[in-house]
Amino acid sequence: MTTIGWIGLGNMGARMAANLVRAGYDVQGYDLSSVATAQAAENGIRIADSVADTVAGADAVFTMLPKGQHVRSVFEGADGIWAHADHRALLIDSSTIDLDTSRFLHDRSTDLGFHFVDAPVSGGISGAAAGTLAFMIGGLEEDTARAARFIEPMSGRTFVAGGPTMGIAAKIANNMMLCINMLANSEGSQLAERMGLDPKVFWEIASASSGQSWAQQTWYPVPDVIPTAAANQNFDATFTVDLARKDVGLALEAGENAGINLPAATIIAQQFDRLIDEGFSHKDCTLIAKYVVPEGELRGWNPDPTAETEAIIEEQNTSPVAAEAAVR
Ligand code: NAD
Repeated sequence: MTTIGWIGLGNMGARMAANLVRAGYDVQGYDLSSVATAQAAENGIRIADSVADTVAGADAVFTMLPKGQHVRSVFEGADGIWAHADHRALLIDSSTIDLDTSRFLHDRSTDLGFHFVDAPVSGGISGAAAGTLAFMIGGLEEDTARAARFIEPMSGRTFVAGGPTMGIAAKIANNMMLCINMLANSEGSQLAERMGLDPKVFWEIASASSGQSWAQQTWYPVPDVIPTAAANQNFDATFTVDLARKDVGLALEAGENAGINLPAATIIAQQFDRLIDEGFSHKDCTLIAKYVVPEGELRGWNPDPTAETEAIIEEQNTSPVAAEAAVR
């Protein structure tokens, strides 16, 4: 049986690894969060106690972690992947990280006699759950061909983007486009509603018109239009502000290195920074829609739901009807 080691069982990783289990792979997973590991275990992933145990005997090792520093930390050190993985294992990083860290992981893996590919993904948690993610792979030809076999159960389309780090390069440019499309959705959705359009009707029109985009189809920031959108769950994260800000930052850095101007990316980075300053880094990145309407008027958004629940309970407890019911 083919064994997969999986490190990072968060919003994306848990769903992706579950598809490998469904495809018949033996998956041993690791995460620092006990909430994440408990959920992953329910999906048939065998939970390991350390990185070393996760990679033991694995034919392929996936990393699906927030940022470059996290990925680097699980590769390096006495307990790390390089110290414990079998040299025949293919090392696959699907996180969205910076080009320098990805290049370092390629170079160091080669120096140590390992095979490594960068294989970031697009499609959000809905694509991760459905096994329809787009994978963009960068690496040596023999390694990218080998990676495709492990990736297949999680993927709708798999692209070989080019040599080492080209998967990450594609992902950075793609996610900058996604974030700019989110700006369009923020402004378009609120404008349509203020002009008197029914949100669902307008969404249907945009879906068949030139305003259509993946962000509009999947992350529309208005409640009761797309069931899985964060706007229905008080903007609880499917993709956090923190991670979206990281991605735009990677694009701005790459743009600066390339000597090009990215004005729209600069605007959205400023809006994410504002959300972070207000303490909302853990909420969904589509919450930028709150900057379109006057403060406190974004439908679907309550900055303090606990206070609201407490107020309702208090009102019920002090209302004459509730008091009468309590006496009876
Ligand atoms: P997440 O924060 O939900 O999950 C990351 C997980 O990594 C967490 O469970 C955390 O506990 C774990 N972790 C952190 N450091 C660790 C360590 N040293 N060892 C073990 N576990 C560790 O993030 P996510 O949304 O799943 O995203 C993961 C990566 O995928 C990011 O790079 C993100 O940019 C990218 N991505 C996310 C989406 C999305 O829609 N959420 C889509 C495409 C790509």
